[in-house]
Amino acid sequence: MKAIMGLEVHVQLRTESKLFCGCGTDLDGRGPNENTCPICLGFPGSKPKVNRRAVEHAVKIARALNCTVWPEVRFSRKSYFYPDMPKNFQITQYDVPLAEGGYLPLDGGRIGITRVHLEEDPAKLAHVGGGITSALYTLIDYNRSGVPLVEIVTEPDITSPKEARLFLDKLSLILEHLGAYDPGREGSIRVDANISLEGGQRVEVKNLTGFRTVEDALNYEIVRQRSMANIGIAVERETRHYDAETNTTSSLRGKEYEEDYGYIVEPDLVKIELDQKWVGRLEAEMPELPDARIERFIEEYGIPRFQSGVIVNAGLEMSRFFEESCRLHGDPGEVASWTVTSLMKSLNFEGLSLAGSEVRPETFVELLELIDEGVISERLAKELVKDYVGTGESPRRLVESRGLGLMEREELRNAIDAVLAENQRAVADYLSGRERALDFLLGQVLRRIQARGRPLEVKNLIKEALDSSGKCLGSSAGRAPGC
Ligand SMILES: [Zn+2]
Repeated sequence: MKAIMGLEVHVQLRTESKLFCGCGTDLDGRGPNENTCPICLGFPGSKPKVNRRAVEHAVKIARALNCTVWPEVRFSRKSYFYPDMPKNFQITQYDVPLAEGGYLPLDGGRIGITRVHLEEDPAKLAHVGGGITSALYTLIDYNRSGVPLVEIVTEPDITSPKEARLFLDKLSLILEHLGAYDPGREGSIRVDANISLEGGQRVEVKNLTGFRTVEDALNYEIVRQRSMANIGIAVERETRHYDAETNTTSSLRGKEYEEDYGYIVEPDLVKIELDQKWVGRLEAEMPELPDARIERFIEEYGIPRFQSGVIVNAGLEMSRFFEESCRLHGDPGEVASWTVTSLMKSLNFEGLSLAGSEVRPETFVELLELIDEGVISERLAKELVKDYVGTGESPRRLVESRGLGLMEREELRNAIDAVLAENQRAVADYLSGRERALDFLLGQVLRRIQARGRPLEVKNLIKEALDSSGKCLGSSAGRAPGC
């Protein structure tokens, strides 16, 4: 049984004020229900007005998703009776959405975009003393009520939970490039996921935050719906809630049908005409999007497609970091490979984002310069990256303060002699023809000098030392001259 999935993605747009009133959208530090006015509280007689910036964001998002933007925008009232909507209706778009009929290329295929429309965010509910189905009571905060949302609805083209996550990763990257949302704000993208098995009823899992959560919830639903089908129970059309702690979904309510919402045109808002010239102007000011950026990096910096993809997909911050580092260092190939391997791995290990770390292009390229100048070995650089990422301290200063520069040849020879003296057995093995003993000795020396030598050079020096000691051992008349 094939699973069929589609997503409804709600994105809080990055605007100064709410969709229909002048209240701000920055809710940090505001007490409950402080950030409200008669319009976003839905008082009778209050007159909403459309936020131009929100429409601009929505148009850009629609065009980035290859949708047709319709020349007229109308709003509708979607009636439902739930405490998060003080008016008992939500102002949204229904029969004529802002844009329709687009797609997002994904991994060689494409996911169809049914529609993109604007609507207002409802209030936030706080369930006290339990979860959504078990709370003792529920508090309502209308601060969020009226924050502009764009809803992006996909076609049921998604064939696996993993693909759903990849779609969301790519979509959010595009939104980040457009400056349309704030990736740092919690809950700024919320997803309703629709899923059915071929021939079965569709189930909607509501209000998922976090793309991993979407993947987990869909995986659970596939198992649940398949098990039901296997024992001959029909899946019902309904809305379900996902509990991340138990990794299960539970029934919230029977799925509403469109006629349940009693849509009517919003009489308090006039229709907005989207002049095609204006849409064209907005399109012209759209920034470079991720797919185009991946191609440009390959062409402009001559780096492999894989590395370009990893850098761009890591977010806007990482792309900018890479370009600035290239400008400062001048060897994009080296910058790319150190970024993709050592830097990103260390950030990951420390659980840091690039923006949340002290890593800067100016200090990052110091590390590469230290290798170029022959001050440190690549191996030591890989060790240094860890300390650098953790502290942001200049690699040059780290090397100086710890005396970590490459050893002089004489110093190296002394270290090698000491290791050979301690490992007579390996020396004898090597001299009797077991080449692999050399690798063992190399490892011992590198450990002793703490990677303060280039492995190839050190290896040659060890060989030299061994070969000359071999000559000495081989001489029959005691110590040969020079031994
Ligand atoms: Zn307001």
